Amino acid sequence: MALATKSCLVSPLVVDKRLHVAASASSSGSSCSTARVPSWSKLGLTFYLRQSDFVGFGLRGARKSNSAQHGDASRSQGAAGGLKWWASATPREARQYEVANLDDILAERDACGVGYIASLKNEYSHKIVKDALTSLGCMEHRGGCGADNDSGDGAGVMTSIPWGLFKKWFQEQGLAEVDESHCGVGQVFLPRDESLAAAAKAVVEEVFKKEGVEVLGWRAVPVTESVVGHFAKITMPRIEQIFVKVSAEDAMDDIERELYISRKLIEKAASTEPWGEDFYFCSLSSRTIVYKGMLRSEVVGQFYDDLRNEDYTTQFAIYHRRFSTNTTPKWPLAQPMRFLGHNGEINTLQGNLNWMRSREATMESPIWRGRDAELRPFGNIKASDSANLDMVAELFMRSGYGPEETMMMMVPEAYKKHPTLMVKYPEIVDFYEYYKGQMEAWDGPALLLFSNGRTVGACLDRNGLRPARYWRTNDDLIYVASEVGVLDIPAANVTMKGRLGPGMMICVNLESGEVYENTEVKKRVANAKPYGKWLAEGSRKLEPVSFNDSTLYSPDSLLKHQQAFGYSSEDVQMIIESMASSGKEPTFCMGDDTPLAVLSERAHLLYDYFKQRFAQVTNPAIDSLREGLVMSLEMNLGKRENMLDAGPANAAQVTLSDPILSDGELSALQATESLKPATLSTFFDVNDGIEGALQRGLDKLCEAADEAVRSGSQLLILSDRTDDMDATKPAIPPLLAVGAVHHHLISNGLRMSASIVIDTAQCFSTHHFACLIGYGASAICPYLALETCRQWRMSTKTIAFIKNGKIPSITVEQTQKNFKKAVKAGLLKILSKMGISLLTSYHGAQIFEIYGLGGDVVDTAFRGSTSRIGGLTMNELANETVSFWTKGFAEEAAKKLENFGFIQLRPGGEYHGNNPEMSKLLHKAVREKNQSAYAVYQEHLSTRPVNVLRDLLEFQSERKPIPVENVEPASGIMERFVTGGMSLGAISRETHEVIAIAMNRIGGKSNSGEGGEDPIRWKHLSDVKEGLSDTLPHLKGLENGDIASSAIKQIASGRFGVTPSFLANSEQLEIKIAQGAKPGEGGQLPGKKVSPYIASLRNSKPGVPLISPPPHHDIYSIEDLAQLIYDLHQVNPVAKVSVKLVAEAGIGTVASGVAKANADVIQISGFDGGTGASPISSIKHAGGPWEMGLAETHQTLISNSLRERVALRVDGGLKSGVDVIMAAAMGADEFGFGSLAMIATGCIMARICHTNNCPVGVASQREEMRARFPGVPGDLVNYFLYVAEEVRGILAQLGYEKLDDIIGKTEILKRRDVQLAKTQSLDLSFLMANAGMPKWTSTQIRKQEVHSNGPVLDDVLLADPEIADAIQNEKSVEKSLKIYNVDRSVGGRVSGAIAKKYGDTGFAGEIKLKFEGSAGQSFGCFLTPGMHLRLVGEANDYVGKGMAGGKIVILPPEGCGFKAEDATIVGNTCLYGATGGQLFANGKAGERFAVRNSLAEAVIEGTGDHACEYMTGGCIVAIGKVGRNVAAGMTGGLGYFLDEDDTFPTKVNKEIVKMQRVTAPAGQQQLQRLLQTHMDETGSSKAKEILSNWEKFLPLFWQLVPPSEEETPEANANAEDRRVENLVAQTA
Ligand code: SF4
Repeated sequence: MALATKSCLVSPLVVDKRLHVAASASSSGSSCSTARVPSWSKLGLTFYLRQSDFVGFGLRGARKSNSAQHGDASRSQGAAGGLKWWASATPREARQYEVANLDDILAERDACGVGYIASLKNEYSHKIVKDALTSLGCMEHRGGCGADNDSGDGAGVMTSIPWGLFKKWFQEQGLAEVDESHCGVGQVFLPRDESLAAAAKAVVEEVFKKEGVEVLGWRAVPVTESVVGHFAKITMPRIEQIFVKVSAEDAMDDIERELYISRKLIEKAASTEPWGEDFYFCSLSSRTIVYKGMLRSEVVGQFYDDLRNEDYTTQFAIYHRRFSTNTTPKWPLAQPMRFLGHNGEINTLQGNLNWMRSREATMESPIWRGRDAELRPFGNIKASDSANLDMVAELFMRSGYGPEETMMMMVPEAYKKHPTLMVKYPEIVDFYEYYKGQMEAWDGPALLLFSNGRTVGACLDRNGLRPARYWRTNDDLIYVASEVGVLDIPAANVTMKGRLGPGMMICVNLESGEVYENTEVKKRVANAKPYGKWLAEGSRKLEPVSFNDSTLYSPDSLLKHQQAFGYSSEDVQMIIESMASSGKEPTFCMGDDTPLAVLSERAHLLYDYFKQRFAQVTNPAIDSLREGLVMSLEMNLGKRENMLDAGPANAAQVTLSDPILSDGELSALQATESLKPATLSTFFDVNDGIEGALQRGLDKLCEAADEAVRSGSQLLILSDRTDDMDATKPAIPPLLAVGAVHHHLISNGLRMSASIVIDTAQCFSTHHFACLIGYGASAICPYLALETCRQWRMSTKTIAFIKNGKIPSITVEQTQKNFKKAVKAGLLKILSKMGISLLTSYHGAQIFEIYGLGGDVVDTAFRGSTSRIGGLTMNELANETVSFWTKGFAEEAAKKLENFGFIQLRPGGEYHGNNPEMSKLLHKAVREKNQSAYAVYQEHLSTRPVNVLRDLLEFQSERKPIPVENVEPASGIMERFVTGGMSLGAISRETHEVIAIAMNRIGGKSNSGEGGEDPIRWKHLSDVKEGLSDTLPHLKGLENGDIASSAIKQIASGRFGVTPSFLANSEQLEIKIAQGAKPGEGGQLPGKKVSPYIASLRNSKPGVPLISPPPHHDIYSIEDLAQLIYDLHQVNPVAKVSVKLVAEAGIGTVASGVAKANADVIQISGFDGGTGASPISSIKHAGGPWEMGLAETHQTLISNSLRERVALRVDGGLKSGVDVIMAAAMGADEFGFGSLAMIATGCIMARICHTNNCPVGVASQREEMRARFPGVPGDLVNYFLYVAEEVRGILAQLGYEKLDDIIGKTEILKRRDVQLAKTQSLDLSFLMANAGMPKWTSTQIRKQEVHSNGPVLDDVLLADPEIADAIQNEKSVEKSLKIYNVDRSVGGRVSGAIAKKYGDTGFAGEIKLKFEGSAGQSFGCFLTPGMHLRLVGEANDYVGKGMAGGKIVILPPEGCGFKAEDATIVGNTCLYGATGGQLFANGKAGERFAVRNSLAEAVIEGTGDHACEYMTGGCIVAIGKVGRNVAAGMTGGLGYFLDEDDTFPTKVNKEIVKMQRVTAPAGQQQLQRLLQTHMDETGSSKAKEILSNWEKFLPLFWQLVPPSEEETPEANANAEDRRVENLVAQTA
């Protein structure tokens, strides 16, 4: 029976047109039975628990498309037959080849703990194995486990080959003695099935035989299966070793090469066998062997019996513990790989793989004696990033590159703005410059440990985003590890301690025992070849050519061009002219509420179908503003020669300082003979109709490009510039043209031979530039955008504005320079949000998701990109292109550009979801408490144009309706409602408090956002009379019992207001990883919004802008997130921890990692959420729809058996009960309302929030504006009551009694019969797929206990009666304890208990804790006053994170074998977000010391890069060497830096701070006082020396002073006098 849309049985609130409930009998084609699970390949999901999904060769998943198989087969065949697969193919044929696919890349992310141990005496010992296993065991917390909490995500060791052990086995077997010098061992995973294993072995032996390699025997590796976890056991392979002899070669390297090529041939042969996916070589070498598996750290040694055998001896061991973001039991994905162990993530993998594929056509070396073809393919597009990095590194190494050289080439350091390198080691700079044109960096956070059996080394990524500590002992062993304290070594035995800084390397020659530290290694490598000479002779820079100062077109012609190429008046006025006048991207606020391009009824540029991807959790965004020194926009043009033949020819390229070309620079390139440039026109012909025209045009273009390259052109210039525009010959969208040519050349093996430059009219926003580069363009000449800048400047309007002073005077050239400046900054921001540093790495990396393009378009130009909902066909795209083009030829030419209304609402323009009519209707409903008014509001929503993906769905049910009285009450539903994280500062105090009170009244949760909270709000009101209270006198409509505490308190990157009491007084703590409106970006609170009240809550200064940097400085990986979750559970063990993510492809995998990292709640935000200010291009072009993110997350969590661990929350443009039910069906347990909560409390959508001028006081800190605030808590309560009643009504109609019953039940969704203007090809099966239901109900999941950290040291402390007494009665107590690196966040829980009772400052007792040993991460986090921690030993990362008071003292033990001031004693990111207290450490710190510190004082003996970054207060003293970029973004506090060798000035980021000597007496006293305390507390000999020779050392100190401190007595000797003078003047 079909239900009416209204029923007397149900709530009168239900009027939504989408509530069309179909009867099952009459709709068999669309009932729940048809909401079937589509093929996984369509979903892009990987379901892992099937045996058939077992992954061979480190594959990601079992998904193999026909084209994939075809591609692989083609290549294998080509290689085996000695043919080149890249032989000329037509554009259509070329599209059959497979490229790297984003879906595959997203299926697996990981991070880890790693380390190595090596003998410097060339001695083999079993101790090294034992130490490696012990160290591994101490890094369990850096790894992850499967859903069974037992199967590890992977762990293993690489060592020398233990010939002693193997020889014994040979003897026992009665086999002939092994000749080690010619033998190798393969560690092999084989199929479990005996007959399949036999078949596999037969193939292996056959290949060896053909290769002339003698097989000496197979050995079953003895293992103890019982220690393996449940899931790991299901997929556990048979593990055997094969022993082989290579008699034909004598040199070790040749033997290794023979084994390498044999392995490649075996892998190829296996790939076509039915058992192929169950076959994998962990290692095959004459030098190294890898034991690994789907194991936890401590199980590795228990599982592999060999590793416990005393006969197992080695010179070195690399160990690795893996934390994977999913629970897939994949044995091969454990590490180490064959050459390296990788802790990190390659952000640019898709591009790296496609470029490597392109190199297959050109890379050859005589070293391979003509067998180069057998090495291909160079990567495995189905394998993990680590596996591919390993494969490519191994390829280079086997092809003659040294291991150090390989790492330097693939993971180069940031050499450009490195004063030491540039001046002292130019040869190293030359090396990097040379290879910059050859190999795009494999960019991303990484600690890499590697060995070829002769050398063992470690190197860190360019930004130092992983911890790496090393130490050496007096028994000649060297250790490198992610953490210190993994082994208990007496301090007296340690002779040296250090850490790897950004881009640094440390290597050991195992044969000579020599240790090479960073510059020594690099100098040796760089001096091996004359790179500088080759560059000087061959490379040349494109000299800048000024921008035109005269116009190309008449104003009419300009208009015609703009119309034809799709410009709107918003594009010109709000984007181009804004950039031309200010040099900055324009900002906007309140998110994007317009439809996706494919849903829109208006034509869009092709770029609008692409959303930028961004980093979250598994990799960090970079801070392009303050850490831009690691970034570069340089590009090289020209042929990329054979990389295996390094020589002068490879250097013959043209370097561009950035990819934006002026017309003159384009002409200069066109005249560069060495590049043999070919200009190809990009118009297509519609004379024969639109059908097929665009595809024909593309094919023609690709053929022309092919021909030009084969004729020797090294530069293809694709151009839509013409003097003679033809109505029947529109321009191919430039992005389509670039992508098609790029992929065509890859497919035909020609991509390395030429660069692509695009000369186009249709490119004016930063997003356009990013798309073009991301799909293969090396440079862009945006000629029409530049012409638009020129004509704007020359227009009479602008001239008049300049004359009357409305805008500053500006030259024509300056407008174009400004435009370029804004584009460059925008490009850096787009790169940085994905964590990519170099444009060369971003080039062709396809860091986008597509929403709304069909398979034919994607296959032609964007192969490998994710386009999950399908969309426009090539012909539909042609129609859209022509619809723009014809505007330029209209008979009645428009006088001005049309305003499409994409940014701002305008009559007749694009539909905006948040519009004045909607807010008016809502205000009426909530203020008048009028149900029929709410019904009108619902009617408005249900009749709106299709705006979001869920508008394409409607409800259906097989059940009969039930009376609404039978449905759970509204109160139960409202418990699931939360409001968005809007910070106090961004919104007014009134709004913030009203929202919190309302949410507390309904039992829901408000979210504090970033910025702290006034403790006055944490008590229930009891003084309310007539709606007013003296406690909160600025509010109306109050009731006794109200409380204004936000149940959810947010921890974001800025850490503003995050104090122990803030944390301790929370029900839930939210870690904001990204924001819906601008994922990957930070925020900024303008100075005018920082009122004294706001500043007091944020521990900052009134009027000084507050910057929240894009990255969390303590979250660079999944294990770092796990640590922050651990910290928060530590400080407040009864608060749930939620993690806020933003929808994008792959979020399911990320969310799985977050669930494994012990989060209690995961929030998925859509791009349409978010209220803060952001660049327009970020609002419009980043982040995905929440429907996609939620569906993927829910289903992936279920498939990984993790769904029960976390409650799922969704937000992003939710407006009604219909939205709630849609989200519930897709899997959400809780529902977030941001913009709507603001509207309900008074916002009228004027969208000027960032200006502090909000007309209704919702988002202003100005007193007079705040006085206009109209909201009362009751309004918001009414709104949520209506929504809950609407939910009840819908549930009743669908026949369900509880929300619990429909959560994850996609069967209640069906496709709505609605015609879209552009295409009917959208595929929504992704949203309606059902991976099954969780084992628990949603209520059980939501109401489960807070996840625990398990037993921790702080519990022992809190259980101590004396400590408990000291806390309870404010007494003093002193305790001494041992501490180990597994004791993490020590002090945090005790501090939380104190803060809960006494607040941040009220505790008068004293708890002194003395520790001995190595402290785990976050030692002393969130410390409160009265807590004193003294550590004799050392500590890891995050010491004093968020500390608010107390003291931390760290010093090395007496009698240690190293000089304290030379050794590293604490790790990275210490004092992050500290709001008070003191730290004294007698040793050096790592990177980002005192980042975001707002009040703490510290003395340290040296630091890594980025010290005092974003500091807003406090005082830091460093009395040893420091790294680069000191004081970046520092707006408050003081720094004192001892500079004994006059190098400090080059290391300071002087953008904000000034440097001066310490002349003010108060400053001198401050410095002296801190040094004295440091000496007294730590016994620092350096401090003693300084204080004893004060006159000598004082002049060597620099004082760093931000503007806000310039008038303090410490920074300015005259400040006090001036203050007194001012006071006197005021009094007079
Ligand atoms: S009314 Fe205030 S809060 Fe709402 S959009 Fe406008 S400025 Fe922003």
